[in-house]
Amino acid sequence: MDQAASPFRRATRIGAIGVSEILKIGARAAALRREGRPVIVLGAGEPDFDTPENVKEAAIRAIRDGETKYTILDGTPAMKAAVSEKFRRENGLAYAPDEITVGAGAKQILYNAFMATLDAGDEVILAAPYWTSYADIVAISGGTAVPVVCREENGFRLDPADLEAAITPKTRWLLLNSPSNPSGAAYGEQALRAILAVLKRHPHVWLMMDDIYEHLVYDGMDFVTAVQLEPSLKDRTLTVNGVSKAYAMTGWRIGYAGGPKALIAAMAVVQSQSTSNPCSVSQAAAIEALTGPQDVLAGRRAAFAARRDRVVAGLNAIEGITCRTPEGAFYTFANCAGVIGRRTPQGEAIATDSDFCRYLLDAADVAVVPGSCFGVAPYFRISYAASMDSLEEALARIAKACGALS
Ligand code: PMP
Repeated sequence: MDQAASPFRRATRIGAIGVSEILKIGARAAALRREGRPVIVLGAGEPDFDTPENVKEAAIRAIRDGETKYTILDGTPAMKAAVSEKFRRENGLAYAPDEITVGAGAKQILYNAFMATLDAGDEVILAAPYWTSYADIVAISGGTAVPVVCREENGFRLDPADLEAAITPKTRWLLLNSPSNPSGAAYGEQALRAILAVLKRHPHVWLMMDDIYEHLVYDGMDFVTAVQLEPSLKDRTLTVNGVSKAYAMTGWRIGYAGGPKALIAAMAVVQSQSTSNPCSVSQAAAIEALTGPQDVLAGRRAAFAARRDRVVAGLNAIEGITCRTPEGAFYTFANCAGVIGRRTPQGEAIATDSDFCRYLLDAADVAVVPGSCFGVAPYFRISYAASMDSLEEALARIAKACGALS
């Protein structure tokens, strides 16, 4: 339709942001399913496990007890106490209640932080491949995302020299996610210290540390977070976390963060004029998740590790595909350079990772996400938050589809 004649005008603020390719793949997969095709969707970023029973019970109790009203804007005192206790117990971090904020998911926390701090032209360094929302939230907030590619040879971890080279006087934040969505790469103590050493040389750069996959690290790896290793960075770090991934609580929408008082207060301003408090019932549930029995975590971690091993082995057995073993999260990020340039049985060229993923969906009924969605190509991401049976079936289908390429 002619723009001028249209009664609708988009704000320039969101002008450059389209519907994410991931959502488009999801919609196409759903459409194929409705046609009766047995599509296996390995695109979702959420655990397939259920929210633990004790957490559900806490929510039901809260409803019965009338915890159904507005709460304090950025978290009830009990919720903030639970977060404070979690940071102390699991990360050795001391955050007081006024250094803690609670929002509707870690996503809202990130949104609040960028809205509260970015002016036009301010730069945010992203370690690519990165979760697509990072770049879009930075854009909505008026900032400029500066992706720095993390090479596969470097375990998809940010090279300190590359970080150093990307920092300019306009850099406001480095956003680091460990373990990472989409690569599964995690920073051990040594790797993280090397990054923090660069930040120490640039006092104007703040660190947003997205620890949402904290509990999903494998092979006995110790999770570490920035402020724990480098307390001197506490006054310019936002330590972001949430209950979505660890406790299979994506739908409850609770995320939280610890950070300097002034930043936390500015974030509250943003939240006060968007959603107000996070859901009262969900806060009660999250308190139970963070302070109740934690034994559910180990079993789920073991299940994810077994799936990861199966998927990595299956992918590496396919000619044209290679996949490093990720340290954490529930994603594999496989290299598909070996299939680029080949042709489908219908004679279509596979020129990009998007072509390859489209082919897998159309020919093999498997939905995965191209690396280009996350800022690096040619790769594809599999979310192995799915049953072992469906992972086995998906691997067999991918192998067959790749075997049919010429
Ligand atoms: N950070 C990363 C890296 C994620 O993958 C996600 C969820 N996909 C989030 C933050 C946000 O999670 P939530 O809003 O559910 O807490």
